[in-house]
Amino acid sequence: MINVTKSFLPPLDEYTRYLEGIWDRGHLTNHGPLVFELEDKLRSFFGVKHVFLITNGTVALQIAIRAAGLKGEVITTPFSYVATTSSLAWEGCKPVFADIDEATFCLDPDSVKNKITPETTGILATHVYGFPSAVEALKEIADSRNLTLIYDAAHAFGCTYKGQSLASYGDVSMVSFHATKLFHTIEGGLLLTNRDDLAHKISYMRNFGHNGPEDFFDAGINGKASEFQAAMGLAVFPYLDRILSLRKARSDQYRTELAGVDLLIPSIPAGLEFNYGYFPVLFRTEADLLKVKTALNAYQIYPRRYFYPSLNTVNYVERQSCPVSESLSPRALCLPLYPDLKETEVTMICRILREAMGRP
Ligand SMILES: *Cc1c(COP(=O)(O)O)cnc(C)c1O
Repeated sequence: MINVTKSFLPPLDEYTRYLEGIWDRGHLTNHGPLVFELEDKLRSFFGVKHVFLITNGTVALQIAIRAAGLKGEVITTPFSYVATTSSLAWEGCKPVFADIDEATFCLDPDSVKNKITPETTGILATHVYGFPSAVEALKEIADSRNLTLIYDAAHAFGCTYKGQSLASYGDVSMVSFHATKLFHTIEGGLLLTNRDDLAHKISYMRNFGHNGPEDFFDAGINGKASEFQAAMGLAVFPYLDRILSLRKARSDQYRTELAGVDLLIPSIPAGLEFNYGYFPVLFRTEADLLKVKTALNAYQIYPRRYFYPSLNTVNYVERQSCPVSESLSPRALCLPLYPDLKETEVTMICRILREAMGRP
């Protein structure tokens, strides 16, 4: 069976070495030394002032929305994982959907501008597949209207855009460390910010609102990461270069073997050092996509429809029209891509895909 992704596991003894330390100290969670060690590594890796390891990416997004004080309307993208939209709804904000740019799959700044009302308090944009949102245009819009700009940078680990880590743009960003992501802590997420005021709020909000054992700043939630999560991150971290180069090799192979097939392979945007986190392809029609998906499934190969359906159509939001997203979403498919994926497996996937498209 070949899934769209497969978790990277470091050698077991490298993980158990961290576990031995946890057993020695008896410190299992609550801001332990491994969490601090991983946060230190990630702060310099991303080049931001503050990072916070959080129990998962979705809770991290919810904390970011709270810390930024978003309420009323928040302009967001219909083309993302459902957690982007559901986090807003969960926090009592109204998701207002702007449309996406068909070249990058990310929010179209002109469409964002058109959706601003007096009720708008923020923008929540996703760097889809690790492709950069229009960071300069969105910053200009946010700054000129006094809106907070939050990025769902779940896919952006290891992406560098115009000389700085993609996850360092915006007022605050979230990177997901779920087991299926490029870098992971089993479950986990990271909040990144250069703003001291947001950092302070995040620090107490992820810890029940504590300001000392018997003193509370404000309402909080339990967003802490455990030592076991941090241990996994520390054990995976030394393999990053290898993970990235294996992903690049398989991506390059897909591009070569799919050349001439009647589908669009999005090109890597200029100025981006890419992480090869996903290999998306865009079919001309949904019927083509379904044909290919069925053919691959017959061989127990499971690509995923990232992202479908377009989130402006889920049943708990006010329906708003986003023609570009609604056109791309039914036609976008992510092919299997992970460090262990073999060259022969990519060749097989491409052969099945070409045959399904009637192109041997
Ligand atoms: C994975 C993902 C999330 C959720 O992160 P978790 O760590 O799984 O909670 C949110 N947004 C996007 C775009 C994702 O891909």
